[in-house]
Formats: sequence, C-alpha cells, structure tokens
Amino acid sequence: MIERLSRRVSTKPYIESSELRRLPDSTGEAIYGIVMMGNCTLCNSACLRLLGYSDPVELIGKHMHKIMHHTRPDGTPYPSDECRIYLAFRGGEGSHVDDEVVWRADGTSFPVEYWSYPIRDQNVLIGAVVTFVDITERKRAEHALQQSAEMFRQLMENIREIFFLVAPDPPKMVYVSPAYEEVAGRPRLELYDRADAWIDSVYPQDRCHVRSVFEQAMQGVTTAMEYRFSRPDGSVRWIHARSFPVQDSQGNLRRIVGIAEDITDRKRTLEEMDAAKAAAEAANRAKSEFLANKSHEIRTPMNGIIGMTELLLDTELTPEHAEYLQMVKSSADSLLTIINDILDFSEIESGKLQLDATTFDLRKRLEDVIKGLAIKARSKGLELLLTVHPGIPASMVGDPTRLSQVLTNLVGNALKFTDRGEVVVEVRKEVESDNFATLHFSVGDTGIGIPLEKQQMIFDEFSQADSSTTRRFGGTGLGLAISKRLVGMMGGQIWLESEVGRGSTFHFTVSLELGP
Ligand code: ADP
Repeated sequence: MIERLSRRVSTKPYIESSELRRLPDSTGEAIYGIVMMGNCTLCNSACLRLLGYSDPVELIGKHMHKIMHHTRPDGTPYPSDECRIYLAFRGGEGSHVDDEVVWRADGTSFPVEYWSYPIRDQNVLIGAVVTFVDITERKRAEHALQQSAEMFRQLMENIREIFFLVAPDPPKMVYVSPAYEEVAGRPRLELYDRADAWIDSVYPQDRCHVRSVFEQAMQGVTTAMEYRFSRPDGSVRWIHARSFPVQDSQGNLRRIVGIAEDITDRKRTLEEMDAAKAAAEAANRAKSEFLANKSHEIRTPMNGIIGMTELLLDTELTPEHAEYLQMVKSSADSLLTIINDILDFSEIESGKLQLDATTFDLRKRLEDVIKGLAIKARSKGLELLLTVHPGIPASMVGDPTRLSQVLTNLVGNALKFTDRGEVVVEVRKEVESDNFATLHFSVGDTGIGIPLEKQQMIFDEFSQADSSTTRRFGGTGLGLAISKRLVGMMGGQIWLESEVGRGSTFHFTVSLELGP
C-alpha cells in the first residue's frame, strides 16, 4: 500500500529504502493518506486493524471521512466540510484532535487521538497523511480519574468537618475544604497565602499550645488537640483537630492531612451533663449528710417506742391488748431495721462512717452471729452450719461490729431466700504477711438463686433481683450495697456465684491486722 502512495502522490517518494517502506506497517499507530478530495491513497495495517478491515482495497480510493468519520461522538452527523482534518490540511496546516471518535466497519466507534499533516509537491498542496491511535483505555482512565476527583470534591465540599492538606517545609496549604469558612467565618484564601493564618484567630490562651502542636504536625508527628477559635462575629467555637503525616515510599514526609471539627455543641452538652451530675451528686451528698447528722434524732424515738412497748408487754394485759402490742413491737422492729439500713448507708455515703480498730476473737464473733440467726433457721427447718478452717488467727484487730453486720446480712439473705436445705458459712485464711491476714468468708445456700444478668446489679443501692421480692420477702435492697462498701473499707472484695433454682454462694474477703 505504500507503493500506492508513492504512485498516486507521485512526488519524490517518502520511502527511500525497502526498510523504510516496512516502517508504517510495523507501528501500532494507524496511518492513512488522502488526496485533496479526501479519498484514501494508502493505509497501513494498524489502520485496517483498528477500523476492522482486512484488505487495503476496502479503503483505497474511498472517501475516508465518509467511511470512518461521518458521525460525531454525540451521534449527530459530521459533514466532511466541517471535519477538522479537512479544514486544516486544505488550509495547508496540520491538526491535532483528541476529542472525537472514528467508526469501524461494523458500525461501532472508539475514541481517537489523531494528527494530520498536509503533503506538498513542490509547494503545491496535494493531500494529507493522517495518523491516529485508539485512546479507549486512556479515556477510561481519565474518566475514572475524573470520577474519583469529582467524588473527592463532592465529599470534601459537603462534609461538615474541615479537611485540609498541607505540604511541609515550609508549610503550604494544598487544599482546605469550604467548611473552614462556615466554622471559622473567614475566607479560605487566607490559608493559601499563609498556611498558619488560622492560628491568629485561636483564643489567646490556647494559641501557644496550638502553635507548638502545629509545628509538631509539620514535622510529621500525628497530633490531636482541642482549642477555642474566635470568630469575627465575636462568638467562640470549640474545635477538635487531628493531623496525620503522609509519607512516600522512601519514608519522606510528603504531606500532612488533617481534619478539624466544630465540637462546640457537643462540648456544651457535656458541660451541662457534668454540671447536672455534679448538682445531683451534691444533692445526694447533702441528703446523705442530713440523714447521717440526724441519725441520733431518728434512732432515739424508735428505741423509745420499742423499749416502752417491751415494758408494756411485761405488764398485765388482756390477750387482745397483748396481741395488738406484739404487732406494734414487730412493726417497730421492722421499721428500725429499715431505718438502720438507710442511716448506715447515708453514713457511709457521706464519708462519716469510721471503722473501729479493736482486738477481737474472730471465732467467738462468728459463733455469736450464727447463734443470733439459728432461731430463724430452725423456724424455717433449715440447717445452719459454720466451718472455720484451720489457720485462722485467734485474735485480730478490726471492727467486729461491721464484720458481723456483713455476715449477718449475707446469712440473713441466705435464710430469707432458701426454703429447703442448708446454709453453710465457711472461713479460711487466704494470705498472711507482715502482721496482716486476708480472710475469705463464704455463705452458701440452697435457695432460689439469682439470674446471671442480675448478679452485678444487686450490689447497687435499692436494687433487688426481682421486683416481687419486696412483696414476698420484704427488705430495702440496701443490705448488699452496705456490705459491699463495708468490705471495701476493710480492704476486701465481695462477689457471688449463683444458679437459679440451685442456690447462691456469696464470697467476701477482708484484710485484718493480727491481734497481740
Ligand atoms: P434486701 O435483701 O433488703 O432486698 P439486699 O441488698 O440484701 O437487699 O439484697 C438485694 C437483692 O439480692 C435481694 O432483694 C434479692 O433479690 C437478692 N439476693 C440477695 N441474697 C440472695 C440470696 N442468698 N439468694 C437469692 N437472692 C438473693
């Protein structure tokens, strides 16, 4: 086909050797020649292949525009007198186009980049040579790039957070999202002039810290900070900003990316919550303090009522009066138990409760507690057993009353929540060192048990595993809360194991000084 060109165009041949003749067929670029009318004089094999023809005769002599350039990318007709190739070479000029398509033999099209050059024979324009390449892949990559740039732009332009990219050394703002203007009330442009211009508007007390963090960020340190920003309208906004270094494959710092958000509203809510919590705590403390201060005034009349009722019960009474009085006594006893729980808890909460440090006989104390509860056990037909394991020191220093209170509470609960079987109290020594011993107490029962999801909550004040408990068994829900705090004050911990329907075992440890 190169032959044909040399023949038709008939000037001094372009081709001066056989090697040179082979060149056009060896390139991936499509090449064809046309005469002034636009008819094809030659085409190389890449041209045939790209356009979907197999033999040059299918193109030679044909009007190339009509064959492969007749329609624009948008599907509208492309008349040849508007064709940029034709217009250019007829004016004696070359052209370069990369936004058009050419059409294959099978009616499909593909995007091309083409160049056309006029051919002259002794200064007379005789035609043109056109080269083109298929840029489908390039267009696809460009499109993908455009799409991802567009997505990035949409994301950045629409997020409420300020997103920024800074090139370090010296700091140069590469990009800052429009949210900056919204949050700071200042133009973004100032940051492109000077990357740290925003620091001028940072609240004076925060500025020094902010500048030092900014400098660290520019060194490639990952940073996070909170600061206040003064807006031109006089309002102050709280900002939370984070920055991260971006390195190239050699580990050199390329950019700093960051995000800053306006946390004023969140901060205000937190402050309000803190204030509300502090107020609630203060009110709770005030209530506990009031009760703790009044504990004497509250207990004394109750003791008066109970004492006088007991005296009256020892006098001559009709059976009816004796029965009524007995009911007064038992109601007063229950009320005193509840009052004692509430007062104890208030005393602990207000920090007024002090533990004694007296020397006592642990074994004797335990026996007293068991004896005190034996009547209740017997009345319910339950066995109440005490096992003191070997190695328990004979005398210890601590607060025996409070220790007994914890035990009484746990054994009392065990008896309360068990209808059949036994309650077993065990004590063993866990560690002994430096004049101190840690004792491990356990109170096991064969009662109703406590569901797993309730096992933590029952140590909270006024909490009962089952809301029907108060109705069935009474109680304030304070016993375990008091026990937990007392055990904590005695350097120990309290926990439990339980299975519904099989029973519960409460454990606690205390650390006590060894007695003389
Ligand atoms: P109270 O016994 O006055 O309700 P406590 O704080 O002593 O308060 O106990 C809280 C709750 O824990 C009880 O109401 C009960 O639901 C549960 N509980 C405590 N001990 C036992 C036990 N041994 N067996 C079953 N449930 C128990």
